[in-house]
Amino acid sequence: MSDFSHWQQKAAKLQFPNAIVIQGERLQAASGATFACISPIDGSVLVEVPACSEQDVNLAVASCRQTFASGVWSELAPARRKRVLQDFAELVKAHTEELALLETLDMGKPITDSLKVDLPASVRALAWHAEAIDKVYDEVAPTPSNELGLVTREPLGVIAAIVPWNFPLLMACWKLGPALATGNCVVLKPSEKSPLTAMRLAELALEAGIPPGVLNVVTGTGPEAGEPLARHMDVDGLVFTGSTGVGRHLLSLAGQTNMKRTFVECGGKSPNIVFPDAPDLDKAAAAAAVGIFFNQGEVCTAGSRLLVHNSIKAEFLQKVIAAGKNMQPGHPLDPTTTMGALVDKGQLERVLGYIEKGQNEGATLALGGAQAMAETGGFYLQPTIFDGVQNSMTIAQEEIFGPVLSCIGFDTEEEAIAIANDSQFGLAAALWTANLGRAHRVAKKLRAGSVWINYYDGGDMTAPFGGFKQSGNGRDKSLHAMEKYTEIKATWINLAD
Ligand code: NAD
Repeated sequence: MSDFSHWQQKAAKLQFPNAIVIQGERLQAASGATFACISPIDGSVLVEVPACSEQDVNLAVASCRQTFASGVWSELAPARRKRVLQDFAELVKAHTEELALLETLDMGKPITDSLKVDLPASVRALAWHAEAIDKVYDEVAPTPSNELGLVTREPLGVIAAIVPWNFPLLMACWKLGPALATGNCVVLKPSEKSPLTAMRLAELALEAGIPPGVLNVVTGTGPEAGEPLARHMDVDGLVFTGSTGVGRHLLSLAGQTNMKRTFVECGGKSPNIVFPDAPDLDKAAAAAAVGIFFNQGEVCTAGSRLLVHNSIKAEFLQKVIAAGKNMQPGHPLDPTTTMGALVDKGQLERVLGYIEKGQNEGATLALGGAQAMAETGGFYLQPTIFDGVQNSMTIAQEEIFGPVLSCIGFDTEEEAIAIANDSQFGLAAALWTANLGRAHRVAKKLRAGSVWINYYDGGDMTAPFGGFKQSGNGRDKSLHAMEKYTEIKATWINLAD
């Protein structure tokens, strides 16, 4: 453990946001209700946050509707929206330390990850879409000469964005970048487990010059604050990142109400396949450990199923165990910590429940399996690895969303592909091989939205991110993300006299 007292001093001086933002005003919930925002680092209460309900949601949606209709944002020239959004991105960047601290205290991830991963990626998501918006063109249809067919994209209008707690700021920015760049107004609802950075983001948006009512933020639980958004008849688009169960529910709510355009980015159970001809088994083993233990395993693309060829499995697993041992949880404010606290007590208990189930179903515990640092009052778990896992076991089928790896052996390429695809999810997959033919052959057959070859968790704003099957629909990142926030209009002009 290093000396991290300077971070503790900064944390002690931090101002916690305690208001929602609607139409540029910092408000409390209409009912006056609040809920405690608890730090998973030690179980302490950070601040009381407004517990919004339907009344607050209605106010936020009405504000967005009015602002959208006014044209103050939706009809601003793209080059001018770009400038404002670039200022917003710069302001978020200037507040890197504050936002990183809020994120770490609120959801337990290591400060080094907040500073080096979440904040730069959030800034880039805002800046990338800002930069793109005055460089995308509409289309002219190949019509006969007496007609002109214009194919244009228009903003949807009012967007509800509901996001999870594992990358609270980043998931918000993946939505806000394209939604705001394309001229929409947004009601953002962060997870009740990690509301602080979204609340602060709304204040920074105003400071950057985004007009009041373009970005409103409401806080509260899924059923109390999220569901009224999903049911709202005046919300045009619903974008969601979260669990597959809630995603399915939101799709059905859209069908029951106004058919709002609904895009859900959901869970995963990603296979990480190691063939015996992998170019560097040491590197592959280190990546397998980071692939599951980064962000405490609370990652939608976590490489939670490690598929290893039986000829190298015993030796390879020892390397992964050695790498995993080096990722023991530590205090999230310690810059040397690589694994922090799970988001809350409920999540810790849920993950421990899966560990018990894995043992009961016959898997062999090869590393960890127990709570750690209980004396802190926080919610920490040892990096955990199961060997001897069958893909039909609960721990290989369900998303655990914690630092738990299931190792499964295979004998042939076909078997590896079949096991990899035997899942309700299809978010991501990785494979390790030096054989170019095999790399392409297997990548094509994997039913996943992202496939990584000879590394884990690649990606950038330049490529779309999202899932096949029950990992969701639609895509975040890249120009493809803008498709979710726009309607296509065909306008026909008769050129004949
Ligand atoms: P969750 O589904 O429990 O909650 C996500 C959000 O939905 C929260 O804001 C919550 O308040 C809200 N919500 C819950 N019930 C609701 C309801 N009935 N109506 C409206 N809103 C409701 O998910 P979580 O536990 O916060 O996040 C973890 C999940 O997110 C994992 O499954 C993970 O794989 C997934 N995730 C996916 C991606 C991706 O890009 N595919 C990225 C990050 C996380």
